[in-house]
Amino acid sequence: RPAGAPDYLQGLNPEQREAVETLDGPLLVLAGAGTGKTRVLTTRIAHILALGKARPFEILSVTFTNKAAREMRERVGKLLGEVAEGMQWLGTFHSIGTRILRRHAELAGLSSSFTILDTDDQIRLLKQVLAAENIDDKRWPARQLAFAIDGWKNRALSPKDVPAGEAQSFAAGRGAELYAIYQARLRQLNAVDFGDLLLEPIKLFRDHPDVLEQYHRRFKYMLVDEYQDTNVAQYLWLRLLAKGSTNLACVGDDDQSIYGWRGAEVENILRFERDFPGAKVVRLERNYRSTGHILNAASHLIAHNQGRLGKTLRPQTELGEKVTVAGAWDSGEEARQIGDEIEALQSKGHKLDEIAILVRASFQMREFEERFITLGLPYRVIGGPRFYERAEIRDALAYLRVVASPADDLAFERIYNTPKRGLGDAALKQIVEVARAEEIPLLEAARRLLDGPDLKPKPRATLKELAQSFDRWSALVDKIPHTELAEQVLEESGYTDMWTKDRSAEAQGRLENLKELVRSMEPFENLRGFLEHVSLVMDADRGPGEDAVTIMTLHAAKGLEFDTVFLPGWEEGLFPHQRSLDESGRAGLEEERRLAYVGVTRARRRAKLWFASNRRIHGMWQSSIPSRFLDELPEADVDVIEAPATFGGGGMGGSYGASRFDRAEPFKSTYDTPGWRRAQESRGPASPGPGARRGGPVTIEGELVASSTAKSAGFG
Ligand code: ATP
Ligand code: MG
Repeated sequence: RPAGAPDYLQGLNPEQREAVETLDGPLLVLAGAGTGKTRVLTTRIAHILALGKARPFEILSVTFTNKAAREMRERVGKLLGEVAEGMQWLGTFHSIGTRILRRHAELAGLSSSFTILDTDDQIRLLKQVLAAENIDDKRWPARQLAFAIDGWKNRALSPKDVPAGEAQSFAAGRGAELYAIYQARLRQLNAVDFGDLLLEPIKLFRDHPDVLEQYHRRFKYMLVDEYQDTNVAQYLWLRLLAKGSTNLACVGDDDQSIYGWRGAEVENILRFERDFPGAKVVRLERNYRSTGHILNAASHLIAHNQGRLGKTLRPQTELGEKVTVAGAWDSGEEARQIGDEIEALQSKGHKLDEIAILVRASFQMREFEERFITLGLPYRVIGGPRFYERAEIRDALAYLRVVASPADDLAFERIYNTPKRGLGDAALKQIVEVARAEEIPLLEAARRLLDGPDLKPKPRATLKELAQSFDRWSALVDKIPHTELAEQVLEESGYTDMWTKDRSAEAQGRLENLKELVRSMEPFENLRGFLEHVSLVMDADRGPGEDAVTIMTLHAAKGLEFDTVFLPGWEEGLFPHQRSLDESGRAGLEEERRLAYVGVTRARRRAKLWFASNRRIHGMWQSSIPSRFLDELPEADVDVIEAPATFGGGGMGGSYGASRFDRAEPFKSTYDTPGWRRAQESRGPASPGPGARRGGPVTIEGELVASSTAKSAGFG
């Protein structure tokens, strides 16, 4: 048979081949990283099409990201040519949900031209709802409600389904009622939010069996990648569709479930056989991606998790290079050394496209970006804007620009009502008119308006305060250090506070980024010098398609692979992230470890782990100890790069050695700073409440966690 088999089946191993050729009935491929799960799905599509079992538009294929969808389309295209273009139903849950909803919009009370609100729009709308209901937005922030509603939608709960206990948590028991009002407002606006893109198709299928029937007839085959990260709503959506044809093939890896914090339920994959009786389960054990040492290291690491099925992974190539662990004195040096290593690789002929830097938290990216700009090394940031292009950074920069040059109208316009201070479009229009008429900057026009009779009392008071604030800040420009000034501006303007109160999932990251911004100002002599640097950096754009290093978060790297992967920041408190330990205990730690496993298994030939002995987090220098994950790596597969002499006895060599061989060493929480606490407290009643254990040593998993005094000796 192999001789006569079509090209695309050649080269598959027997288990993969079985998974590809078992077309009828439910199929689960449960297998570790790099074993060819995605390749099985792609080949399966090719096989279905080649055999004429279905036409391209009769195959539903769900991927986790748009990038993954594009890649899958390309891969099928390579195997079969143009046919792949007819795959209308290849995409993410959200993109497919949108498509379904547009086709039946009127049944959901929408017209087919409905708009999809982004997070900002959503918050704005919720604020209006709160105002109309006389609920104090200060006490009950719109973002907190948005977070709750997203959570309910991820679990496919309509307002009437929200458990009473949960509705209680917002605005004295009005959570579900506000959710209902918000939904009604969305309908009036002919709009949906992201959660609706899942929830509405589910409702549609439930309320209109004839519609569901259409899809049952249409989808002859269904395929889902990264099944371990589906949430309840996505699961229900699939189950409804799978009632038509049981030709559902899901692939996943319980060890790579990393979206629990966003409502993903790894249980979905574990109960597949119960949900779909008669399901065939295929396990793949050969890993084609990584060389032996890398694979051993990753397997050994993930074996420390208790909540897992356990799998064997067998490398298909030589042992290759050992995984390296190296330490730097601080995060700046970490970026410099990684930059040097990349240049060395490049000079040996390695392509930058095959090199990635995978970080735990997005604030880590900036230092690499700046270093690469200095070196002239092309890079791209995936899954988010580059550091200085992030919304919160642009806002903060806009404040600083107005402080430095009060005539910067673009900057003023960006922040004059951010955070919301009740200066609406009407007020802005008045200001703009004066500015035009008099040919003066907006801020000055605002001042003129304050002198005249045209402003209403409320905006007048607010505007006056704002103008006075800018006067005060501008007067400080050459009087106090610019980093201090920046902190003051962000505090006093209410901008930091806006994010501290924010209950959304990204708020924490935004606060971290703001701290990182202030930190990035340090090397500059003054505010102007810094702002000038930023405008140059923002300009340093790459042409498309240029060979470039990829910088991305570990979460965004799922499913991808690179020859060389740098994994910086393996330090306690950063990775594993303190928040995950505080809020979810062992479960949180295990999800962090899965993330580490995802990181290491992205590497084909080189995995390079780094930690810094000192890192500035939330504005404070912290000495850090290497991540416990480093201790969990098998010695035989790892090369520990000796610390350069400059580290001194108390540097990386010492603490890494100590923690590696002496497990009795207490784990120190090094990120227990006031700023951090404040931000954590804002995460709402849903979290166990770090406040409860503030002030004293606390215990995580039986280890003593004490606040540490930053070992800043030798600094500066
Ligand atoms: P992840 O869990 O990280 O998503 P995966 O299981 O989806 O990984 P793939 O991305 O499909 O794995 O495959 C990993 C690599 O191994 C790819 O480069 C793929 O082309 C290659 N590969 C898969 N199967 C084979 C095979 N039978 N022979 C040679 N190479 C293979
Ligand atoms: Mg994959």
